[in-house]
Amino acid sequence: MRTPIVLPACLLVFLASASSSAHQAASQHPFAQTENFAPEPKSVAVIGAGAAGTSFAYLLRQAVPDTDAKITILEATSRIGGRASSIEFEGASIEIGASIFLKENEHLYNASKRFNLTLVSSSTEPKSGSDDRWGIWSTVDRSFRFVSSTSSKLTLARMVWRYGFRAPYEVSRLARQAAASFGRGAYSVPATTPVPPTLAGLIADFKLVAYASQLGRPFLGVNDLYLDEIVASAMRVNYGQDLHADLPALPPLISMAAATGEVTAVENGNQQIFEHFAVNAEASIHFEKRVTEIELVNSTSKPYKVSTADGATAYYDAVAIAVPNPPFKLVNIARQPTIHPYVQLHVTLVAGTAPNPSYFGANPPERILTCMDAVPAPGAHRFNSISHLGNGTYKIFSPAEPSPEQLAQWFKPVPTVVAHYKWGAYPVFGTDAAGAAQDQPVMLDDQLFYLNAFEHIFSTMESQTAVAKRVASYVAEWILSES
Ligand SMILES: Cc1cc2nc3c(=O)[nH]c(=O)nc-3n(C[C@H](O)[C@H](O)[C@H](O)COP(=O)(O)OP(=O)(O)OC[C@H]3O[C@@H](n4cnc5c(N)ncnc54)[C@H](O)[C@@H]3O)c2cc1C
Repeated sequence: MRTPIVLPACLLVFLASASSSAHQAASQHPFAQTENFAPEPKSVAVIGAGAAGTSFAYLLRQAVPDTDAKITILEATSRIGGRASSIEFEGASIEIGASIFLKENEHLYNASKRFNLTLVSSSTEPKSGSDDRWGIWSTVDRSFRFVSSTSSKLTLARMVWRYGFRAPYEVSRLARQAAASFGRGAYSVPATTPVPPTLAGLIADFKLVAYASQLGRPFLGVNDLYLDEIVASAMRVNYGQDLHADLPALPPLISMAAATGEVTAVENGNQQIFEHFAVNAEASIHFEKRVTEIELVNSTSKPYKVSTADGATAYYDAVAIAVPNPPFKLVNIARQPTIHPYVQLHVTLVAGTAPNPSYFGANPPERILTCMDAVPAPGAHRFNSISHLGNGTYKIFSPAEPSPEQLAQWFKPVPTVVAHYKWGAYPVFGTDAAGAAQDQPVMLDDQLFYLNAFEHIFSTMESQTAVAKRVASYVAEWILSES
């Protein structure tokens, strides 16, 4: 049976928001202040308790430890983590959202260590007893285009034989270079640097300009076979979309950095990092509080009125929106985020089975990835990837929910569906010309920020945390200057 991961009891404390009453008091008694009045504590709302929202709250608290700033997290669901989410199945934890990060991702890596979380080499890695091979499957040919070996030397030799020496070397070099450049930029922006008005400014701060306006295929500049099979399969696993002609360079580079770099994951679920962020932010956490509107009101103090689906309202000095495509109204706000389509990704866990030999052949690899087929097969039974998690349990990523017929074709015996999730997973990259998304506003108003603007360039837990850090530093400077 599947059991949801249970949140620590201390997270389930619902605290009443003080800012609402504080605002009313201030507006009802405007002349009650004396010359020696203490400034009212600043109140900051964080909308969304995923990677971005919880890290923002935590990093803000770290930057204003000696103030009585009030941080309130409003989360629509009853859990922390957003797209970082795991379930328990037969005593093991299985990621059904964000599963890995690079060891060089300083925010996540250091936070895991700080919170005494155990890091494992990769949560998606097959368990012991498996041979850990991966293969690139073509739904058109119904055959494997490439299968790795249990020996890394033999895998390399096979790759050079099929794709040449330059393509694997060059793409891995560019991916490492992009990840390192992000690190140099994201981890070194001085805290006092103002938050840029748009994504273009964040791209510059994070040293990604050289990549952000490039198209992926020409930028990678290697043979089509390698792009269509290896890079496209990494894109499908990481971002659920193909390496089409107008796809920008960063999503495939980030996908290849994850495929070729040293990755890690938190044992029993990456969402624990964000649970610790939330607890250590000393914030009021409100679950099942769906924000429906943010209005800029005519007030010098607490000018952001936040309304929630339960009919409540509260007023804040600053608001961080940590939700993609904000599903609420922004009233009297001049700069509005552009709503952007997200990939609908289905994650299905099945158990008690094995890949069907009459479909995949004998001895298929543990991880079946799919390549970009030039011609979509009529009625092709599309999946992005099928990964063996051990003991006959498989995780399927697919663009639609697998039908019983598809499951019966892919697996034998017919599997039991353990769980199925549908995510608005990541932005559809490159629907406009590369770089057009760079106009996406980050700073919507003086103290109103849209953290998920960054996802339009690429989407990872670490980059969302890096944006959160950038904005938290700025809000902290403002709070300290007003204290
Ligand atoms: C299947 C899958 C696999 C992935 N794999 C990886 C991976 O291996 N590594 C990696 O780094 N990244 C991965 N990602 C991407 C990663 O999950 C995201 O980049 C990151 O988690 C986004 O965090 P966020 O806080 O910005 O948004 P979210 O995690 O989406 O958090 C937004 C939060 O806002 C809440 N919310 C929504 N509307 C409202 C409202 N109106 N009011 C209040 N709250 C609201 C939501 O409930 C949610 O908790 C993956 C994503 C998916 C879907």
